Formats: sequence, structure tokens, C-alpha cells
Amino acid sequence: MTRYAMVIDHQRCVGCGGCIIACKNENNTPEGISWSNKITETVGTFPNVRFHYTPTLCNHCENAPCVQGCPTQAMHKAEGGITMHDPDKCIGCKYCMFNCPYGVIYFNWRDPFSQQNKQGELIPNCTSSPAADLAKLKTQGTPFLNPDRDATLPGLRPRGVVEKCTFCDHRLKKGQLPYCVEACPADARIFGDLDDPESEVSKLLGKYRPYRLKEELGTEPKIFYIRSFNPGTYIQTKGGLK
Ligand code: SF4
Ligand code: SF4
Repeated sequence: MTRYAMVIDHQRCVGCGGCIIACKNENNTPEGISWSNKITETVGTFPNVRFHYTPTLCNHCENAPCVQGCPTQAMHKAEGGITMHDPDKCIGCKYCMFNCPYGVIYFNWRDPFSQQNKQGELIPNCTSSPAADLAKLKTQGTPFLNPDRDATLPGLRPRGVVEKCTFCDHRLKKGQLPYCVEACPADARIFGDLDDPESEVSKLLGKYRPYRLKEELGTEPKIFYIRSFNPGTYIQTKGGLK
């Protein structure tokens, strides 16, 4: 049986946020909603301080409290252990948001990209309007709509329901990686099947001692973090040239 998991390597993550932008583009997430995000902390003692980045997303928990508390089964477990959401069944009660210990479920308070429907120009005497731009591009909702998202979930989720990361299940169905994994310029995200001993995630988890967020709660998260950033192991270069 396939059990999808992600390994995030702190030694490789440079905190650039490429994964966050990639996720927004792939999944058409509206303003204020980032299925993929990061926690930024300052570590060390002045003057030797640096930022420490912890990329975050839905943990696709094995014992998912969001699923257990959903009164309509809108939040459910799907193939590969993915925690999925069905906006058609969702009544917007937000129990899943209260139950998720990781704060990775978002509520759609507004129609997505509602500013794009504005007929008037945003800047006085400008020659175009958001609605005119959309019409020119022959798209709906947002100028950068990814139609592929529609394969397994409405491309734009309506007001009054929740949404969250799906491990890019629409890409997995085509044999592609989640887009945050694909887009990470540092290869800090590794994705695969926990039940396959030959997968890269299984090998990394055997090699390094991983930790997971709030493991003590027994949610069995499927996002594993390995190593810690150690600047001492980098060879100093100038502009990438040795
Ligand atoms: S991280 Fe939160 S939303 Fe994701 S499966 Fe776990 S409880 Fe549910
Ligand atoms: S907001 Fe939707 S998905 Fe969340 S618990 Fe309520 S019905 Fe289920």
C-alpha cells in the first residue's frame, strides 16, 4: 500500500520561499491563503545570529483530527494516505480548523480573487481594469489560473468553505511530483512512498534521525524534517564561483 510522505532537509533549505510561490501558482490559492508556508525563527546569540526556516504544509496525518471531527466527511482520507477535502460536502463549520494542531487549514471568507471582477480602473485614468485584463487573457477568476487543478478539486474554491494542501494529488495522478518539490531550487524537499524501502524518503529516514511537528499528539504526521543547517559544512564561494 502506498503511503505518501515528504522529507524536508534543513541543511538544504535556504528559506527562499520558492515552494510557497510555486504552490500558490499551481493551486490557484487566493490572497491571504498559503497551503505551503514557513516558520522563520532567529537562532543564536548576538552578534552570531541567523534565521532558521521550517517549511510547513498539511502533514497528511495518519490519525488526522481534522478528518475525525468533520461532521460531513468533507475532510477525508484518500489514496496514498492523502488528507483530502471535498468543497461540495463542506458546510464551513470550521471544526477541522479548530482540530488541526498545525494551523494549515484556511477558510475562504471572500469570493476568490474578487478584485479581479472590478470593471473600473484601479489607478485613475489608467487604460485598463482587472476585469478587462481577464477578458483579454480569456481566463476566469485570476490572470494566472492553472486549469490543471480542476482535475481533482474545483480550480477555485468558493467562499464559505475551507481549503488546504492536497500533496498536489492531481500531479501525482500523472506521475509528477508535488509542485513545491519540483520547484525547490535547493532540492530541500523529497517526496515518495514510505512503504517502499527503495524510495528516497525511506532511505533518508533510515540514514538520518528525523523529527516531526508536535509528534507527541499522536497525529502521525507524514512530513519529516532531517538535519539542521550547519554553515560550517559549506565551502565559501564568491557568487557561486570557487
Ligand atoms: S496537518 Fe492538520 S489538516 Fe493536515 S491532516 Fe493533520 S490535522 Fe488534518
Ligand atoms: S469546515 Fe468543512 S471540512 Fe471542516 S469540519 Fe466543517 S464541514 Fe468538515
